[in-house]
Amino acid sequence: MGEELKEKLFNVKLSGWEHTDEQEKEKIFQLSKKYMDFLNVAKTEREFIKQAQKLADENGYQDISKLDSLKVGDKVYFINRGKSMYLAIIGENSIENGMHIIGSHVDSPRLDLKPNPLYEDGGFAYFKTHYYGGIKKYQWTTIPLSIHGVIVKTNGEKIEVNIGEDENDPIFTITDLLPHLAQEQMEKKLKNGIEGENLNLLIGSIPYKDKKVSEKIKLNILNILNQKYGITEVDLTSAEIELVPAFKARTLGLDESMVAGYGQDDKVCAYTSLAAMMELDKVKNTAVCILSDKEEIGSMGNTGMESHMFDFFISEILNKLGVNKPNLLDRVFCFSKMLSSDVDAGFDPIYANVSDKHNAGFLGKGIALVKYTGSRGKSGGSDANAEFVAWVRNVLDKNKIQYQLTELGKVDIGGGGTIAYILANKGTDVIDCGVPVLSMHAPYEVTSKYDIYSAYKTYKAFWSE
Ligand code: MN
Ligand code: MN
Repeated sequence: MGEELKEKLFNVKLSGWEHTDEQEKEKIFQLSKKYMDFLNVAKTEREFIKQAQKLADENGYQDISKLDSLKVGDKVYFINRGKSMYLAIIGENSIENGMHIIGSHVDSPRLDLKPNPLYEDGGFAYFKTHYYGGIKKYQWTTIPLSIHGVIVKTNGEKIEVNIGEDENDPIFTITDLLPHLAQEQMEKKLKNGIEGENLNLLIGSIPYKDKKVSEKIKLNILNILNQKYGITEVDLTSAEIELVPAFKARTLGLDESMVAGYGQDDKVCAYTSLAAMMELDKVKNTAVCILSDKEEIGSMGNTGMESHMFDFFISEILNKLGVNKPNLLDRVFCFSKMLSSDVDAGFDPIYANVSDKHNAGFLGKGIALVKYTGSRGKSGGSDANAEFVAWVRNVLDKNKIQYQLTELGKVDIGGGGTIAYILANKGTDVIDCGVPVLSMHAPYEVTSKYDIYSAYKTYKAFWSE
């Protein structure tokens, strides 16, 4: 009797795998396979947007700038400087009643090249780097790294660079001290063990064959770059080159239940929302998918979510629907609903002491809803209204999607944020809603295939509402 009452009254979340039949497991594994394939060709924000555009084009989406007017059912996108993208399907209901927005980010922690990166020292050529986002620097040494990005010449010619992904390409690495001579280093605090200024990428060691010339190794590297791309050293000053792990996303575990891969924060939510959107046809409320940039460094800049580019996109929709009028944009935002689709800290039993077990996000227990972010006394957090949380719960229940309400770590341990507050500031109802991750911001992050599928189902259900 007590057991029955307990089942009725308790909020107990089992592992999602426990109620997954073989047929559903097959679907879960298939989606993860597609996701890993996508991750392997979309390691940077520019690459992600390029792949997203390809997918959108294949699925009947059109560049909004090419259309003069819009009608119900139209599928459009807007690409901002190749680094962020917004997609929309015009809904049957008047847009004045609000939109259903899902917003993720496609940038991930990494190492960028400095504006003057190339130098020679002690028989080697190096690229100097500047880390991007919150990283534990020691994790980025002694792993294979690849070089991705663009070099833009003064005549506007853009050279795309991608070295280290193909099996036949060379890779690059950042060296670390051998333990035999690391006594002093090992005494340092972990955060000081590797200094930012020492994250220098090893890129060559053959001198240019000329006895008289100085800096022969640097010269040889520049000569290679010149022959390959037609650039000189100064062209590296107008470049955006990113170093990311050269390894591929792979299935993890003997039971094949997890995905290990670089950049899953937040490409796991970006991919699942994009994949869900590609399968939508008619929607009641205008569905909007945001793939933003610069979240990892505070969403600033004209490709970050803080910029007015998103307002511009929605204004374009209002203009091209022929409904725009003063203050309509404000009204649309105030009546909109949003899932801020960003990853959550997964509970790691090895580091259990940073989490409150009653409020942690567990891998394999489904999509994680984070009612509020921020740190300490919820400082800087975006806190979803109870009414909206209930509305989202209802959508999930109706669609039989397992979810968990979580917090990022113990109260006074740390904290974090997402793009949620930016849309909340416009008056939109927002809740964070994403996939729990282990080793977040590390070169190799871990997620559960069950949660990936559950994110995809959640996003599809939200837009179909
Ligand atoms: Mn994130
Ligand atoms: Mn992050």
